[in-house]
Amino acid sequence: MITDRPLAFGGNRLDRSANRRGDEAWLKTLLAATQSRFVHINADRTVVVDGKLHTGRNGAAREHYLLGIDEAGSAWFACRSEATEDLRDLRGLAVEGLLPGHELSLLAQARSIVHWHERHSFCANCGAATGVKDAGYRRQCPACSAEHFPRTDPVVIMTVRHGDAILLGRQTSWQAGVYSTLAGFVEPGETIEEAARREVLEESGIRSHAYRYVTSQPWPFPSSLMIGLVGEALDRDIRIDARELEDARWFGRSEVDDMLDGTHETGLKAPPPMAIAHLLMRLAFQPA
Ligand SMILES: [Zn+2]
Repeated sequence: MITDRPLAFGGNRLDRSANRRGDEAWLKTLLAATQSRFVHINADRTVVVDGKLHTGRNGAAREHYLLGIDEAGSAWFACRSEATEDLRDLRGLAVEGLLPGHELSLLAQARSIVHWHERHSFCANCGAATGVKDAGYRRQCPACSAEHFPRTDPVVIMTVRHGDAILLGRQTSWQAGVYSTLAGFVEPGETIEEAARREVLEESGIRSHAYRYVTSQPWPFPSSLMIGLVGEALDRDIRIDARELEDARWFGRSEVDDMLDGTHETGLKAPPPMAIAHLLMRLAFQPA
C-alpha cells in the first residue's frame, strides 16, 4: 500500500467470533457486560461526541447485532439509533480521518448490518415477521422457516490502460472537476472479469481484457464490496453512454499524478485518498 493512510472502511481488527454467534447464553452475558461497546447507526450516520465515537449503551434499541470482540476482550455491538444530535456522516468521517481506521471499519460493518435488518423485518418468502438469529447474521421466519442472510453486493471498479494512458470518466452528479475509475455492480451469473469488461464497454465503448485484481474496499452505502481491478484496453475509441457518464477520456501519467496530488493546472481532481479509486489511479501506471 503506497498511500499515507490506508483505504477507509477496511482493516477491521475485531474477532468476529462467527463460530459462537449461535450461543444465546454467551450473547446475553456480553450484552449485559459493563465493558461492552455499542455503535449507534442512524442511516449513513453515527454519533460522535468531542471528536470521539460514542459507544455508550442504547437503552432504546430493540435489537443488537454483534460486531465482534476487541483485543481487550470487550464485545462491540451495532444498534439502530434515533439520535438527532452529534450525528456524523460516515463518508465525511472517512475523508476527514477524524477517527482511527479500525473504528471506521467497524462502523462500515455496523452500518451495513443495521441497514439490512431495517429492511428485513418481514419474510421475503411469505411476509411474516422474522426474528434475529446468530447475533444478527441471520433472520429466520417462524411461519415458513425461510432463512435470510445479510447481503454484500460486489461492485467492480476499474481503470483500463492503453500504452501510456488510462481511462477515466465522470458522472454529472459528481463534484466539479472530479474524474475517476469506472464502476458497476456484478450481475447474477457473471464473473468479476466479465463484469469489468461489460461495464467498461457499456459506459465508454472501450473493449478491454487482461484484468488483474489489485485490492478491495468495503463501501457501506449500504453494503457494497468494491473489487479493484486494472485491465488493458484494446483500442482508444471512446463512445460514452450519456446515461451513465458525462465524459470519459484518456489521461497520461503526469496529468493523473497532478490530479492525485491536487496540483492539476485546470483543477481536475481525483477522488480522495480514502477511496479505492484513488489507489487504482496511482497504481495503474505501475508494471503489471
Ligand atoms: Zn416466511
